[in-house]
Amino acid sequence: MTATGTLLYMERVSVSFDGFKALNDLSLAVAPGEMRAIIGPNGAGKTTMMDVITGKTRPDTGFVLFDEVHDLKGMDEAAIANLGIGRKFQKPTVFESQSVEDNFVLALQGERGVWPNLFGRPRAREAERIEELLALTRLAPHRDTLAGSLSHGQKQWLEIGMLLAQDPKLLLVDEPAAGMTDAETAETAELLKRIATTHSVIVVEHDMTFIRALGVRVTVLHEGSVLAEGSLDHVSANERVIEIYLGR
Ligand code: ADP
Repeated sequence: MTATGTLLYMERVSVSFDGFKALNDLSLAVAPGEMRAIIGPNGAGKTTMMDVITGKTRPDTGFVLFDEVHDLKGMDEAAIANLGIGRKFQKPTVFESQSVEDNFVLALQGERGVWPNLFGRPRAREAERIEELLALTRLAPHRDTLAGSLSHGQKQWLEIGMLLAQDPKLLLVDEPAAGMTDAETAETAELLKRIATTHSVIVVEHDMTFIRALGVRVTVLHEGSVLAEGSLDHVSANERVIEIYLGR
Protein backbone atom coordinates (compact mmCIF):
# COMPACT_ATOMS: atom_id res chain seq x y z
CA MET A 1 0.00 0.00 0.00
CA THR A 2 1.17 3.54 -0.71
CA ALA A 3 -0.30 6.93 0.18
CA THR A 4 -0.40 8.08 -3.46
CA GLY A 5 -3.94 8.81 -4.63
CA THR A 6 -5.49 8.29 -1.20
CA LEU A 7 -7.60 10.64 0.91
CA LEU A 8 -6.92 8.75 4.13
CA TYR A 9 -3.89 6.56 4.58
CA MET A 10 -3.06 4.71 7.81
CA GLU A 11 0.09 2.66 7.99
CA ARG A 12 0.88 0.13 10.73
CA VAL A 13 -0.95 2.07 13.43
CA SER A 14 -0.85 0.59 16.92
CA VAL A 15 -2.58 1.82 20.06
CA SER A 16 -2.26 0.17 23.47
CA PHE A 17 -4.33 0.70 26.60
CA ASP A 18 -2.50 -0.56 29.68
CA GLY A 19 -0.49 -2.96 27.56
CA PHE A 20 -3.55 -4.23 25.64
CA LYS A 21 -3.27 -3.62 21.90
CA ALA A 22 -6.58 -2.14 20.74
CA LEU A 23 -5.01 -1.47 17.32
CA ASN A 24 -2.23 -3.75 16.16
CA ASP A 25 -0.35 -2.67 13.02
CA LEU A 26 -3.55 -1.47 11.37
CA SER A 27 -3.18 -0.25 7.78
CA LEU A 28 -6.02 1.23 5.76
CA ALA A 29 -6.28 3.30 2.58
CA VAL A 30 -9.44 5.13 1.50
CA ALA A 31 -9.56 6.79 -1.91
CA PRO A 32 -11.10 10.20 -2.63
CA GLY A 33 -14.81 9.69 -3.34
CA GLU A 34 -14.86 6.20 -1.85
CA MET A 35 -17.35 4.89 0.71
CA ARG A 36 -15.89 2.15 2.91
CA ALA A 37 -17.70 -0.02 5.42
CA ILE A 38 -15.86 -1.21 8.52
CA ILE A 39 -17.16 -4.28 10.28
CA GLY A 40 -15.85 -6.52 13.04
CA PRO A 41 -16.97 -8.04 16.35
CA ASN A 42 -17.14 -6.04 19.56
CA GLY A 43 -13.67 -5.08 20.73
CA ALA A 44 -12.18 -5.38 17.22
CA GLY A 45 -10.87 -1.80 17.37
CA LYS A 46 -13.42 0.03 15.21
CA THR A 47 -14.03 2.88 17.68
CA THR A 48 -10.33 3.21 18.45
CA MET A 49 -9.64 3.46 14.71
CA MET A 50 -12.18 6.30 14.36
CA ASP A 51 -10.67 7.95 17.46
CA VAL A 52 -7.22 7.84 15.88
CA ILE A 53 -8.48 9.34 12.60
CA THR A 54 -10.18 12.23 14.43
CA GLY A 55 -7.26 12.85 16.82
CA LYS A 56 -9.11 11.81 19.96
CA THR A 57 -6.55 9.04 20.47
CA ARG A 58 -2.93 9.28 19.43
CA PRO A 59 -1.25 6.26 17.85
CA ASP A 60 1.73 4.81 19.72
CA THR A 61 3.35 3.83 16.44
CA GLY A 62 2.56 4.13 12.74
CA PHE A 63 1.19 7.18 10.94
CA VAL A 64 -1.98 8.63 9.47
CA LEU A 65 -1.92 10.83 6.38
CA PHE A 66 -4.85 12.89 5.12
CA ASP A 67 -4.93 14.19 1.55
CA GLU A 68 -1.44 12.71 1.07
CA VAL A 69 0.29 15.60 2.83
CA HIS A 70 -1.17 16.15 6.30
CA ASP A 71 0.37 13.94 8.97
CA LEU A 72 -2.43 13.72 11.52
CA LYS A 73 -0.27 12.20 14.22
CA GLY A 74 0.74 15.48 15.85
CA MET A 75 -2.56 17.32 15.31
CA ASP A 76 -5.33 17.95 17.83
CA GLU A 77 -9.02 17.21 17.20
CA ALA A 78 -9.97 20.75 16.17
CA ALA A 79 -7.13 21.02 13.66
CA ILE A 80 -8.08 17.65 12.15
CA ALA A 81 -11.75 18.66 11.91
CA ASN A 82 -10.65 21.84 10.14
CA LEU A 83 -8.82 19.79 7.52
CA GLY A 84 -12.23 18.38 6.56
CA ILE A 85 -12.94 15.30 8.67
CA GLY A 86 -16.45 15.17 10.15
CA ARG A 87 -17.65 12.52 12.60
CA LYS A 88 -21.16 11.35 13.30
CA PHE A 89 -21.45 9.52 16.60
CA GLN A 90 -24.07 6.84 17.15
CA LYS A 91 -26.55 8.92 19.12
CA PRO A 92 -28.14 11.85 17.32
CA THR A 93 -27.21 15.26 18.72
CA VAL A 94 -29.38 17.98 17.23
CA PHE A 95 -30.85 21.21 18.63
CA GLU A 96 -34.14 19.68 19.77
CA SER A 97 -35.93 22.96 20.48
CA GLN A 98 -35.13 24.39 17.02
CA SER A 99 -36.78 23.59 13.70
CA VAL A 100 -35.09 21.36 11.13
CA GLU A 101 -34.33 24.41 9.00
CA ASP A 102 -32.82 26.32 11.93
CA ASN A 103 -30.64 23.35 12.77
CA PHE A 104 -29.16 23.68 9.28
CA VAL A 105 -28.83 27.45 9.77
CA LEU A 106 -26.90 26.85 12.99
CA ALA A 107 -24.68 24.25 11.35
CA LEU A 108 -23.89 26.60 8.44
CA GLN A 109 -23.21 29.51 10.77
CA GLY A 110 -20.96 27.27 12.81
CA GLU A 111 -18.97 26.74 9.61
CA ARG A 112 -18.51 30.51 9.22
CA GLY A 113 -17.36 30.67 12.83
CA VAL A 114 -19.80 33.42 13.81
CA TRP A 115 -22.08 33.44 16.81
CA PRO A 116 -25.37 31.99 15.56
CA ASN A 117 -28.15 34.51 15.08
CA LEU A 118 -31.40 32.62 14.70
CA PHE A 119 -33.44 35.75 14.09
CA GLY A 120 -31.31 37.06 11.29
CA ARG A 121 -32.22 36.23 7.71
CA PRO A 122 -29.97 33.68 6.05
CA ARG A 123 -27.81 35.09 3.30
CA ALA A 124 -28.54 34.05 -0.28
CA ARG A 125 -25.80 31.43 -0.49
CA GLU A 126 -26.80 30.09 2.91
CA ALA A 127 -30.46 29.86 1.86
CA GLU A 128 -29.36 27.89 -1.20
CA ARG A 129 -27.28 25.50 0.92
CA ILE A 130 -30.23 25.00 3.29
CA GLU A 131 -32.43 23.97 0.35
CA GLU A 132 -29.71 21.59 -0.85
CA LEU A 133 -29.41 20.00 2.60
CA LEU A 134 -33.19 19.71 2.98
CA ALA A 135 -33.37 18.02 -0.42
CA LEU A 136 -30.40 15.73 0.23
CA THR A 137 -31.75 14.52 3.58
CA ARG A 138 -35.34 14.37 2.28
CA LEU A 139 -36.35 16.51 5.27
CA ALA A 140 -37.90 19.35 3.22
CA PRO A 141 -41.48 18.38 4.24
CA HIS A 142 -40.37 18.71 7.88
CA ARG A 143 -38.43 21.96 7.61
CA ASP A 144 -40.61 23.70 10.22
CA THR A 145 -40.83 20.71 12.56
CA LEU A 146 -38.96 20.98 15.85
CA ALA A 147 -36.02 18.58 15.74
CA GLY A 148 -37.14 17.15 19.09
CA SER A 149 -40.36 15.94 17.43
CA LEU A 150 -38.62 14.02 14.63
CA SER A 151 -38.38 10.23 14.55
CA HIS A 152 -35.05 8.64 15.51
CA GLY A 153 -34.22 8.09 11.84
CA GLN A 154 -35.05 11.67 10.86
CA LYS A 155 -32.84 13.00 13.66
CA GLN A 156 -29.95 10.91 12.35
CA TRP A 157 -30.48 12.25 8.81
CA LEU A 158 -30.68 15.80 10.15
CA GLU A 159 -27.39 15.43 12.01
CA ILE A 160 -25.70 13.90 8.97
CA GLY A 161 -26.93 16.91 6.96
CA MET A 162 -25.59 19.27 9.64
CA LEU A 163 -22.17 17.66 9.39
CA LEU A 164 -22.26 18.12 5.62
CA ALA A 165 -22.99 21.82 6.15
CA GLN A 166 -19.39 22.00 7.32
CA ASP A 167 -18.32 20.58 3.97
CA PRO A 168 -16.03 17.77 5.14
CA LYS A 169 -13.95 15.84 2.62
CA LEU A 170 -14.30 12.70 4.73
CA LEU A 171 -17.32 11.79 6.80
CA LEU A 172 -17.03 9.13 9.53
CA VAL A 173 -20.34 7.59 10.50
CA ASP A 174 -20.74 5.30 13.50
CA GLU A 175 -23.54 2.71 13.32
CA PRO A 176 -26.09 4.94 11.61
CA ALA A 177 -28.67 2.15 11.31
CA ALA A 178 -28.67 1.26 15.03
CA GLY A 179 -32.18 1.49 16.47
CA MET A 180 -33.78 2.13 13.08
CA THR A 181 -36.77 0.45 11.49
CA ASP A 182 -36.14 -1.52 8.28
CA ALA A 183 -37.57 1.35 6.23
CA GLU A 184 -35.34 3.89 7.99
CA THR A 185 -32.31 1.64 7.50
CA ALA A 186 -33.01 1.45 3.76
CA GLU A 187 -33.46 5.26 3.62
CA THR A 188 -30.17 5.75 5.46
CA ALA A 189 -28.33 3.56 2.96
CA GLU A 190 -29.80 5.68 0.14
CA LEU A 191 -28.76 8.90 1.92
CA LEU A 192 -25.17 7.70 2.36
CA LYS A 193 -25.06 6.62 -1.28
CA ARG A 194 -26.17 10.12 -2.32
CA ILE A 195 -23.51 11.65 -0.07
CA ALA A 196 -20.83 9.32 -1.43
CA THR A 197 -21.26 10.79 -4.90
CA THR A 198 -19.50 13.92 -3.62
CA HIS A 199 -17.69 12.91 -0.40
CA SER A 200 -15.58 10.09 1.01
CA VAL A 201 -17.35 8.17 3.74
CA ILE A 202 -16.23 5.61 6.32
CA VAL A 203 -19.14 3.83 7.94
CA VAL A 204 -18.90 1.47 10.90
CA GLU A 205 -21.90 -0.83 11.02
CA HIS A 206 -23.08 -4.20 12.35
CA ASP A 207 -26.21 -4.49 10.24
CA MET A 208 -25.31 -6.67 7.24
CA THR A 209 -28.54 -5.87 5.40
CA PHE A 210 -27.49 -2.24 5.56
CA ILE A 211 -23.93 -3.00 4.37
CA ARG A 212 -25.34 -5.02 1.49
CA ALA A 213 -27.60 -2.12 0.54
CA LEU A 214 -24.55 0.19 0.46
CA GLY A 215 -22.80 -2.19 -1.94
CA VAL A 216 -19.33 -0.91 -1.02
CA ARG A 217 -15.91 -2.34 -0.22
CA VAL A 218 -15.80 -3.81 3.28
CA THR A 219 -12.88 -3.96 5.71
CA VAL A 220 -13.14 -6.56 8.48
CA LEU A 221 -11.28 -5.68 11.68
CA HIS A 222 -10.32 -8.30 14.23
CA GLU A 223 -8.09 -7.84 17.27
CA GLY A 224 -6.97 -4.43 16.03
CA SER A 225 -5.86 -5.52 12.55
CA VAL A 226 -7.40 -5.93 9.11
CA LEU A 227 -8.56 -9.52 8.74
CA ALA A 228 -10.13 -9.27 5.29
CA GLU A 229 -11.05 -6.66 2.69
CA GLY A 230 -13.22 -6.67 -0.43
CA SER A 231 -16.86 -6.95 -1.41
CA LEU A 232 -19.29 -8.22 1.25
CA ASP A 233 -19.57 -11.51 -0.65
CA HIS A 234 -15.79 -11.82 -0.79
CA VAL A 235 -15.20 -11.21 2.94
CA SER A 236 -18.22 -13.34 3.92
CA ALA A 237 -16.60 -16.31 2.18
CA ASN A 238 -13.38 -15.90 4.18
CA GLU A 239 -12.89 -18.85 6.60
CA ARG A 240 -11.43 -16.67 9.37
CA VAL A 241 -14.27 -14.16 9.06
CA ILE A 242 -16.80 -17.00 9.35
CA GLU A 243 -14.91 -18.29 12.41
CA ILE A 244 -14.89 -14.98 14.28
CA TYR A 245 -18.54 -14.24 13.49
CA LEU A 246 -19.89 -17.72 14.14
CA GLY A 247 -17.37 -18.52 16.90
CA ARG A 248 -16.21 -21.72 15.23
P1 ADP B 1 -15.00 -1.83 18.80
O1 ADP B 1 -15.39 -0.41 18.53
O2 ADP B 1 -14.64 -2.58 17.57
O3 ADP B 1 -16.00 -2.56 19.64
P2 ADP B 1 -12.98 -0.63 20.49
O4 ADP B 1 -12.10 0.18 19.61
O5 ADP B 1 -14.00 0.10 21.28
O6 ADP B 1 -13.64 -1.82 19.66
O7 ADP B 1 -12.08 -1.42 21.53
C1 ADP B 1 -10.99 -2.23 21.18
C2 ADP B 1 -10.40 -2.82 22.45
O8 ADP B 1 -9.73 -1.79 23.18
C3 ADP B 1 -11.45 -3.40 23.39
O9 ADP B 1 -10.95 -4.57 23.96
C4 ADP B 1 -11.63 -2.32 24.43
O10 ADP B 1 -12.00 -2.87 25.68
C5 ADP B 1 -10.26 -1.67 24.48
N1 ADP B 1 -10.33 -0.24 24.80
C6 ADP B 1 -10.88 0.71 24.03
N2 ADP B 1 -10.75 1.93 24.60
C7 ADP B 1 -10.11 1.74 25.78
C8 ADP B 1 -9.68 2.59 26.85
N3 ADP B 1 -9.87 3.90 26.80
N4 ADP B 1 -9.06 2.01 27.90
C9 ADP B 1 -8.83 0.68 27.95
N5 ADP B 1 -9.22 -0.18 26.98
C10 ADP B 1 -9.85 0.33 25.91
